[in-house]
Amino acid sequence: MSEAPLFSVLGLPIHLMDDYQGWLRSRLQQGIGTHVVTLNAEMTMQAEANAALAKIIHQAELVIPDGAGVVLYLRLQGKQIQRYPGIELAESLLHSGAEGSWSVFFFGGAPGVAETAAAIWQQQVPGLSIAGTQHGYISPTEAEEFRQTLIQLKPQLIFVGLGVPRQELWIAQHRFLCPQATWIGVGGSFDVWAGVKSRAPAWLADNHLEWLYRLYQEPWRWRRMLALPKFARKALVDRLTQKPSASRMLP
Ligand code: UDP
Repeated sequence: MSEAPLFSVLGLPIHLMDDYQGWLRSRLQQGIGTHVVTLNAEMTMQAEANAALAKIIHQAELVIPDGAGVVLYLRLQGKQIQRYPGIELAESLLHSGAEGSWSVFFFGGAPGVAETAAAIWQQQVPGLSIAGTQHGYISPTEAEEFRQTLIQLKPQLIFVGLGVPRQELWIAQHRFLCPQATWIGVGGSFDVWAGVKSRAPAWLADNHLEWLYRLYQEPWRWRRMLALPKFARKALVDRLTQKPSASRMLP
């Protein structure tokens, strides 16, 4: 990626550019295989303890600032960047899918969820080509059948909603099946599109409090969310000690 400055967030890369969507559309049209990682504070902390996940994030062709923590971290380092939630990137690619004429696949979520989400998108964007859907709780035998399906269908845009880090590991292991596709780990986006879950109201998101809404909706997440104060502490230490690794452009 020549045109995008590459910065470090606690040692992980992040690409800053004005038009992620345009950059991806061009790669989709040219059939250049791409893995998009949507980085947030929780994933950053998971990657500290999970070398395989960290390696995949380093190898991804595009890492976008999905979470408020990552944006605040970069702002502490003097970078005036905007947050770009992965779900919004995915939505903008779906909206332009008919015009771009790429086929889309939804993989993940409880049985029926990706299917419902796909039907809703098909209604919203009538010319959108949805190659297929697959829920995310498949047996090893079904997984093998699913791999064959992907090889046959060759979708160009593949959303994988299995949660972090499962979806990132899955994409890294399977992207060779459709080497020209764009793969994005979309977390719980199918649940939102299917109406199973809702996103935080804008005023909470604008105040960097989306995490609070998630905790209210899914209280069982509290243990995972302990990563957030840990991330904040590290970000402050990085800022105060002006570590050379902090947010500088990677070589
Ligand atoms: N999921 C799945 N298969 C699994 C585990 C989880 O399809 O084996 C789905 C789950 O149904 C949900 C999504 O993965 O739709 C995880 O959503 P979450 O919002 O927790 O994602 P994260 O916060 O990790 O990005």
